[in-house]
Amino acid sequence: MADEEKFDAVVVGAGPAGTAAAITMAKAGLQVALLERGPKPGSKNVMGGILYNHYLEEIVGDDWKQAPLERPIIEERRWVMTPSAVIGLDYKNLRNRSHPHSYSVLRARFDAWFAEQAEKAGAMVVPETVVERLIVKNGRVIGVGTGRGDDLYAEVTVVCEGIGLGTGLLENTVIDGRPLRRKLRPNEVALAFKEIMDLDPGLIEERFNCESGEGCTVECFGDSTMGMSGFMFIYTNHDTLSVGGGALLSEFNQTLRSPNDVMEHFKKHPAIKPLLRGAETVEFLAHLIPEGGYRGIPKVHGPGYLVCGDAAMLSNPVHREGSNLAMESGRFAGETVIHAKEMGDFSERRLAEYRGKLDHSWVMADMKKYDKAVPLLEHNPQMLTKYPVVLDQALDEFFRVDGTSKWDKQKKILKMVRKEGMFKMGWDTVKALWAMK
Ligand SMILES: Cc1cc2nc3c(=O)[nH]c(=O)nc-3n(C[C@H](O)[C@H](O)[C@H](O)COP(=O)(O)OP(=O)(O)OC[C@H]3O[C@@H](n4cnc5c(N)ncnc54)[C@H](O)[C@@H]3O)c2cc1C
Repeated sequence: MADEEKFDAVVVGAGPAGTAAAITMAKAGLQVALLERGPKPGSKNVMGGILYNHYLEEIVGDDWKQAPLERPIIEERRWVMTPSAVIGLDYKNLRNRSHPHSYSVLRARFDAWFAEQAEKAGAMVVPETVVERLIVKNGRVIGVGTGRGDDLYAEVTVVCEGIGLGTGLLENTVIDGRPLRRKLRPNEVALAFKEIMDLDPGLIEERFNCESGEGCTVECFGDSTMGMSGFMFIYTNHDTLSVGGGALLSEFNQTLRSPNDVMEHFKKHPAIKPLLRGAETVEFLAHLIPEGGYRGIPKVHGPGYLVCGDAAMLSNPVHREGSNLAMESGRFAGETVIHAKEMGDFSERRLAEYRGKLDHSWVMADMKKYDKAVPLLEHNPQMLTKYPVVLDQALDEFFRVDGTSKWDKQKKILKMVRKEGMFKMGWDTVKALWAMK
């Protein structure tokens, strides 16, 4: 890389956000550099992960069909667990066979492919390059300093570094006496982890009741995380399972549990163990997920810079969405820079168009809607501890045939539920997850 090279945009990080931004701009003929610290895009990246093809199609068109996707998701299972029971909501949508909207993916494969699309579109993709600092001059970000000793200059720097907790560029860059993002609190991030486990494709299909090539998700709440705010998952890939989960970092700190404790606890659950029998762990990965909600979103545009994806705290853990918010925000950032270039105006005011695009889209609508969801769980641990047990007891009563009249059973169940305040909690939950504006 030549010193003092000036691009229209330098993008930091070849995750879903950065690559989406780079493709969008490169397709419009802008000079774009996409910098990635990993030896290859994706090599350091972690996701459960379910990817939503709609957003991919918006960026690469029909080429999305060539992406290295694992299995289309035909069935979604949500399980509430107690130590000895599972209460499930299983939804098998056979129309997903002809119109899938989500696929399991392995990020090491997917991100590498996605970055290739950026390269094909004309972006300069530079792996093995750590961006060590944003270069600020006269209160404006004018480029980046890399671990290779090069400085790269650009009209706009698009920061897509992921959550970047502690060592991140946003937290360590100061303009007008303020960091670009404040330090995150431990209850604003989830510590997430997963194992990739080898399993024969035929066995995957048999155990998860899938047709050949089709996939299923299993997400487990309650006892699965030892009662912490979060969930565990199993996602079916072609010949592996992604098994993992996450919970608020603050709760790991309070309980002194490790991800390994939670993982082993989950894998040993009597309903999970048979699903994993004979599967061999080939990789262990861990990462952080932003869960600060709408209120946790930092300033996403400023003089000479835009912030997308996890770096901007855009994630919706309730619906296990993050990659799509990353791609959509990356695309919006790309469009904003294209527009700025057309106008010959890269001022902060012009770059504010990016915030406007987010505000008028489903991205901010969803961020606002679920703003209170994580705190609701955090402040009501009984939702993942006591209530599943009460529900388990109520269902045991309902299904058990034991000489008690159904009227007596009904009374017993109502008494149990009322005693624990579950009606009020149920209403509060509906308000927080469904009805809240
Ligand atoms: C365990 C787990 C499960 C998840 N499951 C799902 C799921 O099922 N569905 C879903 O939609 N989302 C899921 N997510 C969330 C999703 O992974 C993120 O929302 C998404 O990856 C955010 O994309 P991003 O591009 O903003 O950041 P990232 O994917 O974190 O990408 C950031 C990129 O920047 C690079 N980088 C960082 N710092 C630098 C630097 N200084 N210099 C150069 N490069 C740098 C990194 O190497 C990386 O490539 C999950 C996350 C985790 C951890």
